[in-house]
Amino acid sequence: METKEKVLMQKYEVGRLLGQGTFGKVYYGRNLKTGEGVALKVIDKEKVVKVGLIDQTKREISVMSLIKHQNVVNLHEVMATKTKIYFVMEYAKGGELFHKVAKGRLKEDVARKYFQQLISAISFCHARGVYHRDLKPENLLLDEYGVLKVSDFGLSAFSESKRQDGLLHTTCGTPAYVAPEVISRRGYDGAKADIWSCGVILFVLLAGYLPFHDSNLMEMYRKISRGEYKCPNWFPPEVKRLLSRILDPNPKSRISIARIMENPWFRKGLNTSKKVGVLDVEKLPEPSEVVNVVETKMELAKPSNLNAFDIISLSAGFDLSGLFVSNDEKDEFQFTSVKSPCTILSKFEEIGANVGLKMTKKDRGSLRLEGSNEGKNGNLSIDIEIFEIGPVFHLVEVKKCSGDSIDYRCLMRRDIKPKIGEIVWAWQGEQQLSN
Ligand code: ATP
Ligand code: MG
Repeated sequence: METKEKVLMQKYEVGRLLGQGTFGKVYYGRNLKTGEGVALKVIDKEKVVKVGLIDQTKREISVMSLIKHQNVVNLHEVMATKTKIYFVMEYAKGGELFHKVAKGRLKEDVARKYFQQLISAISFCHARGVYHRDLKPENLLLDEYGVLKVSDFGLSAFSESKRQDGLLHTTCGTPAYVAPEVISRRGYDGAKADIWSCGVILFVLLAGYLPFHDSNLMEMYRKISRGEYKCPNWFPPEVKRLLSRILDPNPKSRISIARIMENPWFRKGLNTSKKVGVLDVEKLPEPSEVVNVVETKMELAKPSNLNAFDIISLSAGFDLSGLFVSNDEKDEFQFTSVKSPCTILSKFEEIGANVGLKMTKKDRGSLRLEGSNEGKNGNLSIDIEIFEIGPVFHLVEVKKCSGDSIDYRCLMRRDIKPKIGEIVWAWQGEQQLSN
């Protein structure tokens, strides 16, 4: 990955790693046609399928493509291969806002400017029924001019599933930015929960530290649920008042976005002839365009029900499943075949028998081969699975399900791959190179 230059869908050159999140990695990319820099968020489709999020993700992406605002990271397009989903987003060159705060608290005017931009983005999205639900430092980015860009807007499905998984407490570190009603898992209003997080963010910008903090997690929850925090004495009284209205543990009495936008401290420095939040409406794409993006590029999950796009992406050279994982690390490979499933499985059975692998399970579309010797990482077992793409066209997936990776790779390279040529129509990814 570091040494090889990769091109995604013949459109984006994939560059350095920008960061890593719960669901995948973010890479720098460059549009080969326009030279424009983009951020490519790569998500493992399996993870999304596992948490049952495909439908919700599709819905959210279609909504997200409707959100065009100067303070929201723009989603350019969504692409998918058999195993990955790629979000092609606006690239925020300035990195995370909180790298600035890490160097020390911000001046009041500077903090206010970011807060205004944040509220402008939130207001715009809320008005369209889109909630963030995961506002936190990693999602506040800056562009090259220092303009705030909120990322991951509309991907609530991901935030929610992290929470349900209990990941909130682990991967995402502390729940410092999360509203009390979200922590206590009461049904909650996405708008009010986002407002709470904005309050925590404002506090951090001005103070340089968190309002709710404790080395003991339970103690921290307690403080959040009671709205127990203390403003440093250098906070202007107007800010203290505004914060007390935002960090109200009761979502019902918590201030609304509309009220925040009327607040005199908030309004300072704003061009009063323009109303924040409504000035940035741009041409919205036609709903039909959006559906198109989502339908053609996302509906690839069902292996036995692939569409034309899948077939293209499965043709040699188009499959990108190996793109971000070098072949050395992968314990699976795929190829397409025009032979019948019966012929394909018989071939594997025959080769397996020759190298001392025994068939332990077989049905119409799959086969398991197992070694008889205990390797150092347990018995080697390999699954071969066939997916129907069309009447004569099949995708075959060969995967190690247990045992030692080195044994597996050695077996594949030496005994299996060289002998299945007659059933292979096209290798997927770069498998042919590793032969
Ligand atoms: P989570 O797992 O909760 O989503 P996260 O927001 O940190 O956490 P990602 O959204 O996957 O995870 O982003 C990972 C990192 O990549 C971010 O912290 C940020 O530094 C960087 N990044 C994300 N999007 C962009 C972008 N559009 N431009 C530049 N850098 C980005
Ligand atoms: Mg993010």
